[in-house]
Amino acid sequence: MSRYQSINPYNGDVFATFENPTDKEIEESLNLAHMLYKKWRHEDPSTRSKELLAIAGGFRENEDKMAQMMTLEIGKLFSEAKEEVELCIQICEYYAVNGADMLKPQPLESGLGNAYYLKQPTGVVLACEPWNFPLYQVIRVFAPNFMVGNPIILKHAHNVPSSAALMAKIIKRAGAPEGSLINLYLSYDQLAQVIRDPRIQGVALTGSERGGSSVAEEAGKNLKKSTMELGGNDPFIVLEDADKDVLRNVLSDARTYNDGQVCTSSKRIIVVKSRYEEVLRELKSLYEVLKPGDPLDSSTTLAPMNSEGAKEKLEKQVQEAVDHGAQIYYQHPEIESTGAFFPPTILTHIGKDNPVFDKELFGPVAEVHCVEDEDEAIKLANDSSYGLGSSIISKNTAHAEKLAAKIETGMTVINGRWVTAPELPFGGVKKSGYGRELGKLGLMAFVNEHLVIDTTSENE
Ligand code: NAP
Repeated sequence: MSRYQSINPYNGDVFATFENPTDKEIEESLNLAHMLYKKWRHEDPSTRSKELLAIAGGFRENEDKMAQMMTLEIGKLFSEAKEEVELCIQICEYYAVNGADMLKPQPLESGLGNAYYLKQPTGVVLACEPWNFPLYQVIRVFAPNFMVGNPIILKHAHNVPSSAALMAKIIKRAGAPEGSLINLYLSYDQLAQVIRDPRIQGVALTGSERGGSSVAEEAGKNLKKSTMELGGNDPFIVLEDADKDVLRNVLSDARTYNDGQVCTSSKRIIVVKSRYEEVLRELKSLYEVLKPGDPLDSSTTLAPMNSEGAKEKLEKQVQEAVDHGAQIYYQHPEIESTGAFFPPTILTHIGKDNPVFDKELFGPVAEVHCVEDEDEAIKLANDSSYGLGSSIISKNTAHAEKLAAKIETGMTVINGRWVTAPELPFGGVKKSGYGRELGKLGLMAFVNEHLVIDTTSENE
């Protein structure tokens, strides 16, 4: 039986199943995408701006429909799903307006002659994406590569096949050329086969360390350039001079947005001693009032997790943490529902020998650490295999910027929780992966920086 199924985690309803493609379908898809690359290679990127704007328009027209599908497949609050569609519209618009300029040739200073590099497409990119932001994760790769001229073959997560199908349909209906985004329900073996194909020239994966290492290995073996956007265990550092209102405001959803299933969610809240009790009280007061319910209902503030399996995994991890000395400062009362609800939990006293110390807990569990001072805070922040995002809460922003530079991470937000925007590069270091998506850096991920130098001027 195919692994690609749409299962509503709020009521267990299995509402769609999709089959893996046949060899013929894979071959035709690769061919179609490759032919489009060959055509796009000879066109100026500016010719695609209008098409990308039309795609943004298609998303706007279908905003509710797309948001609803994401809510049905992974239990995301409908309001958050709508924010996701809005963000994707902005990403498409950003690259439609700015992409062509960013792709202009870059002049170079050289004593050997008139030199510059062209920014050319490289070929079809395989995008292997996770379920937690079913639309945004794909659009982060699709929109910039659409402008570059690299068509996308999409292998989406097994639990969001209907969102993948809907997105591909809307992109096609908006007038995008055939082959610009092809959604295939590939098995792992088929994925490896596609990566090996010479028509694939890049591999972009967002997901866990497990998925990342296996796909990166296949890409590496076949000498395909890859970007890996992996998990995080982000520190959220509260300094002594943190503004009370800013702190409360930022904490309000730093760990519970998308039910805590965000790569850059503030998983480790590191607090200097003088503010520790206050942070615990604030978090508890925020968690106590969360209202579980149907994620399509606008009064619901606590969504189910994306699946029963994810809930069970988190239950085991929290139990393991407690078995090894962690204390539960607060846990939301048990939720009477058939949905995959996990009660928001605050854990303290997580020692370095605790098995969860260096693990990503992917759900509404805040791990709160008490430290003597900011030096210890930075040391603890860096004592992690991951390095994706981070936050610093302090009134002294100049000082916070200096501290930011000391954290081994891809991103730091001062006086805010994680952010993402079309113009800001997103990505990490260490086991959080490599490469960047979004911004100008993201646009350049699969570009051929083709050097041209005219030595005539030098010889004359
Ligand atoms: P995942 O299990 O690694 O899955 C991601 C994608 O990789 C899915 O399409 C999955 O397909 C595929 N995959 C997994 N193992 C594979 C293998 N051995 N061979 C081929 N394909 C494989 O990750 P997830 O659980 O969906 O997503 C949650 C993780 O993503 C968290 O760790 C989160 O922090 C991270 N994340 C990172 C970012 C970032 O930007 N850094 C953003 C969002 C999420 P199947 O679904 O079919 O298994």
